[in-house]
Amino acid sequence: MLSLDMPKSPSSHDIGQASRILVVEDEDLIREMLVVSLEEEGYKVVTAADGRTALTFLQNAELTTNEFPFDLIILDLMLPQVNGLDLCRLLRHQGNPVPVLIVSAKDSETDRVLGLEVGADDYITKPFSMRELIARCRALLRRQRMGDWLQQSVLQYKDIILSSQECRVLVRGEEASLSPKEFRLLELFMSYPRRVWSREQLIDQVWGADFVGDTKTVDVHIRWLREKLERDPGQPEYIITVRGFGYRFG
Ligand code: CA
Repeated sequence: MLSLDMPKSPSSHDIGQASRILVVEDEDLIREMLVVSLEEEGYKVVTAADGRTALTFLQNAELTTNEFPFDLIILDLMLPQVNGLDLCRLLRHQGNPVPVLIVSAKDSETDRVLGLEVGADDYITKPFSMRELIARCRALLRRQRMGDWLQQSVLQYKDIILSSQECRVLVRGEEASLSPKEFRLLELFMSYPRRVWSREQLIDQVWGADFVGDTKTVDVHIRWLREKLERDPGQPEYIITVRGFGYRFG
């Protein structure tokens, strides 16, 4: 049977919209464990206990909303009615690119290879640790998100992606929350990689000619931006200080 679980609000570390995950698993205990752990991570979870239900559900949902309702599918292989491999094969045949993580009791190399051959993105063998499963889900979702973004017209430098149209920034696959000035600064930097900007030039470009204040404002905003972008703000790899001149990006 298919059950639609009420989505919980995303947890604080999950900025932006919560990812939606479909869990297809016929073992009640494992299914419930997955639901609890994934919801704790802030994901919206929907479950199906057999292949046919999952399939009907996927197809109907797509017909009514005109968009695919899931960001990730966690798929058991041994399922009643339609098995996991067939389900995955069918999805790919229909051109559906949703990431699929196979969770299976089968652990032979053949099954693993077969799973990946029919278009699954990752494979984990039961029994598995929930922490590992969550880590794999995160990685798949991150990869998917970056892929989606790169299909739009965006600016990219290493693992930072900026969409001017949507005023959004993705840092290592996670959405960053930037103030309008920080965003404008980053957009300017990313539009001209390695160009050196003086503080005065940055003020002209970002704050405009009617700016009142001093150039320290720039330094403060750079510090904030570094805290949001850099792995180690003390050793910046993106926004570099050029002594005596100002800043450059990359
Ligand atoms: Ca099973």
